[in-house]
Amino acid sequence: MVITEVRIKLVEENNERLQAFCSVTFDNAFVVRDLKIIEGTKGSFVAMPSRKLTDRCGSCGCKNHLRARYCNQCGHKLDENRAIRDADGRAKLHADIAHPINSASREMIQSAIIRAYQEEKERSKQPGYICTYDDYDSDFDESTSYSGIVSEMGRSNLRTHGSHAAPRGTHLRGSGDEKSSRAENSAGGFGAGIM
Ligand SMILES: [Zn+2]
Repeated sequence: MVITEVRIKLVEENNERLQAFCSVTFDNAFVVRDLKIIEGTKGSFVAMPSRKLTDRCGSCGCKNHLRARYCNQCGHKLDENRAIRDADGRAKLHADIAHPINSASREMIQSAIIRAYQEEKERSKQPGYICTYDDYDSDFDESTSYSGIVSEMGRSNLRTHGSHAAPRGTHLRGSGDEKSSRAENSAGGFGAGIM
């Protein structure tokens, strides 16, 4: 599998950690969109496209994001802390839609994207710069907490495909933060990746 194209959409300076959106093309045949480049505590990393997890209101049965304090449909008060938490107490609020299943492909994808991001930043300084990312869906969710994504990183990364059918919680590997993930990787373990 070869990455044949990376398209980057730089995000203007903001208070959040989001630096860019990007899409990746594999083998001139398959595109994954809506990856995000996020400023981590140790440099940029790539977040896979993800969706917010929801659950159903106990009163009316409608779906709400796990952070919602009141049901969008009926106004029923919801438990703010109902999201499933890992051993370190961090709430699981997002689930990846597409993601690598081993550390080699994760590293390959991340390094290609970060390199393209650096090049795009240089290109953006040139006159007549045009962004090639197809921004036809303008559903940038201002309310997304990228700090939250950062804190979720490193614990939901390297799942095998088979584990998709497993109950929630079994994906958790490693202790989570980038530092310990790195340590685990350098120790040669098949631990959590850095992304
Ligand atoms: Zn409700």
